[in-house]
Amino acid sequence: MDASMFRAWIHEAARLVTENADHLTRLDSAVGDADHGINMRRGLQAAVAMLDETDPSTPGAVLATVGRALISKTGGASGPLYGTGFRQAAGTLGVDPDVSAAQLGAALAAALTGIQRIGAALEGDKTMIDALSPAVTAYQAVIDTGGDLTNATRAASDAAVRGLKQTARMQARKGRASYLGARTIGHEDPGAASTALILSALATVSSA
Ligand code: ADP
Ligand code: MG
Ligand code: MG
Repeated sequence: MDASMFRAWIHEAARLVTENADHLTRLDSAVGDADHGINMRRGLQAAVAMLDETDPSTPGAVLATVGRALISKTGGASGPLYGTGFRQAAGTLGVDPDVSAAQLGAALAAALTGIQRIGAALEGDKTMIDALSPAVTAYQAVIDTGGDLTNATRAASDAAVRGLKQTARMQARKGRASYLGARTIGHEDPGAASTALILSALATVSSA
């Protein structure tokens, strides 16, 4: 995967999140403050604009730019969380002009670790971690058994959707939603939903 493929990923993620912004905001209106779609659309559109402006030449530079854009433009708790995730992922890729499927797996794992370091959410707390963590595990399982990028990203995307669905049964223990306690049960977590979209975008560009 080269820089242009990572850019295509972020373009597709911005397109999917924009298309689903109302849905993300509706999920956040049930468990939060009804702004997740607005926040994510703003952040990812800013990321696309910054990529078009600066034209980074390596995968790591693309993801570092996305991280910066999300931290400065997303607003809400999700901005610094996703921003840190992308920046940590960027750090593992260094300055390689082309990265392997295994390197991308390490980058996804670093994103998870970074988000958990600043957000302190565990699986089961009803956050984006409930989509991202099973996705990282599923990706690695495919790589470990000799699978390729297309299969690994598809497995990650499918696992994120399954994790998202499971968040409906959970009570929120982190972020703004935790204030609503048991009333969050029965609703999917908005951040898990945006993570599923971002990983679906990755699977789409990886199979093209
Ligand atoms: P805000 O809650 O500030 O309005 P958003 O609505 O954009 O921010 O994002 C809310 C999402 O952020 C939640 O659905 C959840 O997935 C995620 N989130 C909140 N707190 C944490 C945390 N500590 N760790 C991981 N994810 C979190
Ligand atoms: Mg919100
Ligand atoms: Mg908010």
